[in-house]
Amino acid sequence: MTLEIKRLHLASLQGVDGRRWPVHGFVVTHPGGAVLVDTGVGGPQRVLDDWRVVNRSVADALAELDMSPADIGLVINTHLHFDHCGQNAVFKHAPFYVQRAELNRMRRDSAGPYEWFDFMNARFELLDGDAEVLPGLEVVATPGHTEGHQCVVVRGDDAGFDLLIGDAAYTPRQYAEPASDDLPPGQASDVEAWRESVRRIRSLRPGTVHFCHHTDLVHG
Ligand SMILES: [Zn+2]
Repeated sequence: MTLEIKRLHLASLQGVDGRRWPVHGFVVTHPGGAVLVDTGVGGPQRVLDDWRVVNRSVADALAELDMSPADIGLVINTHLHFDHCGQNAVFKHAPFYVQRAELNRMRRDSAGPYEWFDFMNARFELLDGDAEVLPGLEVVATPGHTEGHQCVVVRGDDAGFDLLIGDAAYTPRQYAEPASDDLPPGQASDVEAWRESVRRIRSLRPGTVHFCHHTDLVHG
């Protein structure tokens, strides 16, 4: 059983600190096919302008791996911010694994419609907390950045595992110092829940942590 992680460069945007931040998604290949974790940036032009987004199509990013959207059998959204589910509509054939709390939050807090993720007939697989998606591939509920945020655990052949952290920590610094009061704007919608989630994923001792908005990896 071999799962393999491949990182996609989906966009860059102007981060909360005024610097350019990358936007990464991840393909996880498994013996039966491929899973995509987060689909990149989309949404109204106004939002893309506000964040100075330099965008790529997820299909172009997949083409660099000699893949196409049709090769993706299943999508996991860590959460439903515009830079993580923005191109869900490219994968109309696939189910979207999302925490139920996150879909509820998005529908409650924001005036829709949101065709780029909540399109007609979008097939959501709604999760309530931690869940196994496929053998060796699990989600861990990590509320705090948003109410229904989740991280993704990828177990390889060895004893350790990789963590696709989503926005549970923007950068290695927030992952290393959850107690810090010096949080970037937007890191936590609920600071106490966020701290508890980071403590929890750290206590699981991931072998390698992959960030959505930072290119460095953190090793156990
Ligand atoms: Zn986010």
